[in-house]
Amino acid sequence: MSSSSSNISIAPVSAPAETAGHEHHSPEQQGWLRAVVGSVPMLLTFAALAGVAYWGHHTEWKFSSAQHIGVKSSTAEKVEELLTTETGTSSPAKWCEKHGIAACPLCDRSLAQVSKPLESASAEELERVQKAFAVRDRHENGPHYLANGLRVRAASKEAVEKLGIDVAPVWEAAMTESISASGEVSFDATRVARLAARVPGTAWRVTKQIGDPVNAGDLLAIIDAAEVGKAKSELLQALVQTRLKTQALGNLKNAPVPERQKKEAEAARRDAEVRLLSAEQALVNLGLTVKATEFGKLEVDDIANQLQRLGLSRELSKTDADLPGTLLPLRAPLDGVVMQVDVIAGEVVDPEDVLFVVADPHQMWVNLNVMATDANWVHVGQAVRFRPDGVKAEFTGQVDWIGTSADETTRTIPVRVVMPNADGKLRASALGVGRIVLREEPHAITVPNEAVQTVGGCQVVFVRDKEFLKPNGPKVFHARMVRTGAKDITNTEIIVGVAIGEVVVSKGSALLADELKRSQSVSVANHRQSERRTPIATNGQETKKE
Ligand SMILES: [Zn+2]
Repeated sequence: MSSSSSNISIAPVSAPAETAGHEHHSPEQQGWLRAVVGSVPMLLTFAALAGVAYWGHHTEWKFSSAQHIGVKSSTAEKVEELLTTETGTSSPAKWCEKHGIAACPLCDRSLAQVSKPLESASAEELERVQKAFAVRDRHENGPHYLANGLRVRAASKEAVEKLGIDVAPVWEAAMTESISASGEVSFDATRVARLAARVPGTAWRVTKQIGDPVNAGDLLAIIDAAEVGKAKSELLQALVQTRLKTQALGNLKNAPVPERQKKEAEAARRDAEVRLLSAEQALVNLGLTVKATEFGKLEVDDIANQLQRLGLSRELSKTDADLPGTLLPLRAPLDGVVMQVDVIAGEVVDPEDVLFVVADPHQMWVNLNVMATDANWVHVGQAVRFRPDGVKAEFTGQVDWIGTSADETTRTIPVRVVMPNADGKLRASALGVGRIVLREEPHAITVPNEAVQTVGGCQVVFVRDKEFLKPNGPKVFHARMVRTGAKDITNTEIIVGVAIGEVVVSKGSALLADELKRSQSVSVANHRQSERRTPIATNGQETKKE
């Protein structure tokens, strides 16, 4: 919002004093109104109110900027006397199609209000402008009736001081343009695991607790499950059967027996092998890898011993004789931290219960909710700075994914950001605000925020005439159309419209804008009137058009 925005609630009260030019002023205005209402006949009151209404209607209830910027009201009354709008040149300024402004100082360097003529714009500068326009949509200036080189003349140097007009140089500064969006931190879904037991059983031992760091493969718990014992004994049986059948076949090989008997023996061996394979597979399905061939010529007792500690040979010692053969390890599938433990030793567990959540907090996701209108300017790979609520530190990451549909209730577009989090300070479920960086411009041309005004749909600044400071120099401020880019709490980037070395009005620019509006409303009104008059002259054609 420009600082010239109206304040309707006080406007009617201050109105009569201002329009009439009487010496009634703001601090006593309310009292004044009350006094009028209380002490004079009703008729007069109505007259006063009618006056207020007339003024309000006439000025569209706009409140003068003079009061806003703290100019004493005695001065405010005289603003119109101290400032006048004039047309700078006889011919309208050239409209720059490329940059969307009139009187473009980038294309026509002679327009710049600087003492030393400027060299033509460098390739870098033209590239900077192009980049700034490409990054997102910009305010379009229009209508173009401001295009004819308007300027505001102050009555004198003293008038400028009296009005409290301040100036500031056009300055080069680093600016960052970004889109803000609220969001929530979550674990990277590709780096989080929710673990349950594969079969029903009881928790035999729990070896990790919340907060424990784990590597992929670390033991979290041991489940005692009957199904595991069954699968192991099936494997052992199948193994023994296979050995027996293989031996029987060997014995028959050179024996004088019918061929049919040999074939039967071979089929029996193959049957046993199939059973062995399926017993192996049953254990693999439980997460226990075993290869019967690797047992070689080991005694059955030794094999049984090995099977007892299957999958747990690292953790359970050989001397642990009384181990049940029904144990199943539950291991971390990834490097990370144990975030959740929902099991205690001895507890009955079921495959539907999540017993552990292991997540890698070294990389997190921030899920931002971006306004649909902003989402067009977001791209994968753009840098994002995220600040969780109540935290001073800012975290940086990159846009990783942009949603293809809007959220049903908020109508925002989900944007996922991947954030490295080496120190683990970014915590899941934290809320905060992220800034998606569209552009970082180390050499932005900037003016103070208060320098930029909007007049008739155009963004303007007031550039001090280059001769202003000379003793008899013109006390003139040129209304310069501009196009703005990034904005922070103090500065506004001017993509095009001013040049380094120029001086713009900062404090008090709203006064100049008001003066411009005043003169424009007169000229526009005149323009409209003449438009209206023209058809009357050709009355017949006008009615036909309808
Ligand atoms: Zn231009």
